[in-house]
Amino acid sequence: EVAYDLIIIGGGPIGMACAIEAQLYGLNYLILEKGALVNSLFNYPLYMTFFSTAERLEIGNVPFSCIAPKPGRQEALEYYRNIQKHFKLNINLHEKVISVNKQKAGYFIVHSDKGWYNAQNVVIATGFYDIPVYMNVPGENLPHVRHYYKEAHEYAFRKVVVVGANNSSVDAALECWHKGADVTMVIRKGEINDRVKYWIKPDIENRIKEGSIKAWFYSEITEITDKEVKIFTPEGYETLEADFVLALTGYRPDIDFLKACGIAVSDDLLCTPAYNPETMETNVPGLYLAGVVCGGMETHKWFIENSRVHAQMIIGNVVREI
Ligand code: FAD
Repeated sequence: EVAYDLIIIGGGPIGMACAIEAQLYGLNYLILEKGALVNSLFNYPLYMTFFSTAERLEIGNVPFSCIAPKPGRQEALEYYRNIQKHFKLNINLHEKVISVNKQKAGYFIVHSDKGWYNAQNVVIATGFYDIPVYMNVPGENLPHVRHYYKEAHEYAFRKVVVVGANNSSVDAALECWHKGADVTMVIRKGEINDRVKYWIKPDIENRIKEGSIKAWFYSEITEITDKEVKIFTPEGYETLEADFVLALTGYRPDIDFLKACGIAVSDDLLCTPAYNPETMETNVPGLYLAGVVCGGMETHKWFIENSRVHAQMIIGNVVREI
């Protein structure tokens, strides 16, 4: 007998939104989350500010009140914990899904590091924050090279090279500089990315212009050693001193996991997974994608505010087919 109507992989905001909708329709569902509740948000920089207003991060029609114009990590954790308290979603935390296999009889076997489950339908809402986009340069695995940034204190009074010009890099560069680090940015393109929060972009541009934060544009790291980084610039190779390297070069979904589940993925650099945009069902009947994972390598395409609706689309389709 098949135990679950639906298994949801990932207890991020969108996995939770799917569970709320499944609960509303009386489906027998289970969320399997490999870390803490909303584990990606838990791992965000401590003092980050969302680019979305609180209202746009709401799920389950539960108001998210926030006094400042935009909420931060701590308030978001508070909000999603309250969601869990309110809806009492059926979720197993700290349980990682290893494989999903569709059986000839039509149901799925979901294997985790704690057990086996079977389900008529599966939603993959695994996000993108678990795998950094590596630079693939020598020295990248040294302990002073970080792909996640938490807070500035450790970097105060030290020489810090920040790689990238997106929100993560810009926030880290500014915070570290404010706390007394000597910051140099290494930026592949010729400017700060347009997606940087509109109220932060002028700040970083002015710090660079006045020379408080140094920046090498059209430049890339080619090698990292204990005390230095070598960069390739339009003027040739340069060597920078670096006590720490914050390589905030982005994150990407686990494309191999999607493929192993049987999902077709485009064979270009975008690795776009195949799904029906009206129902979010993949090429494997009964297997759905939700949230940021849908974009493949285009991780900026889907976020909380524009992918909350995946929950209604998916559950609507599941209910129609039961
Ligand atoms: P996630 O929140 O990443 O959730 C996926 C979950 O799946 C994770 O908890 C993970 O632990 C779990 N998981 C992964 N693999 C497995 C497995 N094999 N087994 C079990 N569980 C697994 N978006 C916005 O809309 N507004 C913002 O202001 C905003 N600010 C951001 C700031 C930062 C610093 C970052 C990094 C991202 C920001 N985003 C923002 C994007 C945001 O991360 C995503 O929109 C949001 O987290 C997507 O939710 P999700 O549920 O799809 O994925």
